[in-house]
Amino acid sequence: MARKFFVGGNWKCNGTTEEVKKIVSTLNAGDVPSQDVVEVVISPPFVFLPVVKSSLRSDFHVAAQNCWIKKGGAYTGEISAEMLVNLEIPWVILGHSERRSLLGESSEFVGDKVAYALSQGLNVIACIGETLEQREAGSTMAVVAAQTKAIAERITDWTKVVLAYEPVWAIGTGKVATPAQAQEVHFELRKWLQANVSPQVSASTRIIYGGSVSGGNCKELAAQPDLDGFLVGGASLKPEFIDIIKSAEVKKSA
Ligand code: PEP
Repeated sequence: MARKFFVGGNWKCNGTTEEVKKIVSTLNAGDVPSQDVVEVVISPPFVFLPVVKSSLRSDFHVAAQNCWIKKGGAYTGEISAEMLVNLEIPWVILGHSERRSLLGESSEFVGDKVAYALSQGLNVIACIGETLEQREAGSTMAVVAAQTKAIAERITDWTKVVLAYEPVWAIGTGKVATPAQAQEVHFELRKWLQANVSPQVSASTRIIYGGSVSGGNCKELAAQPDLDGFLVGGASLKPEFIDIIKSAEVKKSA
């Protein structure tokens, strides 16, 4: 079953009005493969979502970086899934490790958020990944399986979910997972989905890699059979993001 290559750009908490204009014009001018080959989703901070959505080329889509766990109301500072839907924001990133570690979001909390966002019609980029200590202790697969299980227990429809494997030690560190390390976890995750969800979900769900992806390392990573794209942080703010999108071509010719 063909899984369309997916490239997400997570701008995190970065950008000014001027910088946003510059990045969007670079994206708009980028010569990238067609929508049949690659799905591109740009995730600016909440405040820039409307301007990015209205100025971005129509073959790229936008994502929020978070949303609330249930219907909005008396939750100061939060943004609800309903608001994103109202603004026609089609995607949301949930469970990013920076939120898990800095804000204490548990796997259960993330699973509840994923389920609620899906119930409102959003597409979800759900992030999972182990810390360096967990990798060194040999518990990588147990950690990512537990994080995935907390999602799997709460949802039935995986068609709007992209699973982002992001080893915490590789995020923003310049220390990218080797293609073999990434492939190993992606393969195991697919096996986990096959055994615990269904063969169909295992075959069709896109599992993307995140962690210090750059214009220089993307092609070798993209060639891995169980790697269906990237979630990109730092490099998504730079012109090399276009090269990362272009790495979808590696898949096409594989
Ligand atoms: C991320 O923020 O999801 C990420 C992978 O960051 P970076 O590419 O900077 O490591």
